[in-house]
Amino acid sequence: MALRKVLLEGDDTLRKKSREVKDFDLRTQELIDDMFDTMREEDGLGLAAPQVGVLKRIFVMEAVEENEATAFINPVLIDEKGEQIGAEGCLSLPGLYGVVSRPEEVRVRAQDISGEEFERTYSGLEARCVCHEIDHLYGILYRDKATGGLHKLDEEEEESPTGDLSREEETSIKAADASV
Ligand SMILES: [Zn+2]
Repeated sequence: MALRKVLLEGDDTLRKKSREVKDFDLRTQELIDDMFDTMREEDGLGLAAPQVGVLKRIFVMEAVEENEATAFINPVLIDEKGEQIGAEGCLSLPGLYGVVSRPEEVRVRAQDISGEEFERTYSGLEARCVCHEIDHLYGILYRDKATGGLHKLDEEEEESPTGDLSREEETSIKAADASV
């Protein structure tokens, strides 16, 4: 298991555009393995390569319900439907959350580690995660899209692992929403 350092907001790398992946080699596989390890260590739902300092169009997403954990190489949104407005967090902006409008459903096209193209449709939380991670590949942080700015999680919550839409955050966010 190899963990990589997650860059925090303020690091220029997070604001740069990632490049297309052309080599589907061992190095790419190692990067993806490390990204899964790092995402799980940080208790995140997703992680994009620029967050670990690599400007390549790659992100990983944890398994949710019936969907398996997946790595997306050169992902593009090919369709989106509806709208969901909800709270979002990010491993690169720990201890914060903000309310962001995202499509309710997205269809994404990407390549797997063999270079094979695939398409998947996601809704709800996963659709939110896919949009959030693809934004990272363009140097966009959810702060740019949050209406009403970012808010601090409760001090108590800051002690617990937080991250890209981590489950702990989701819980505290729901509580925060209810109190508004
Ligand atoms: Zn993020």
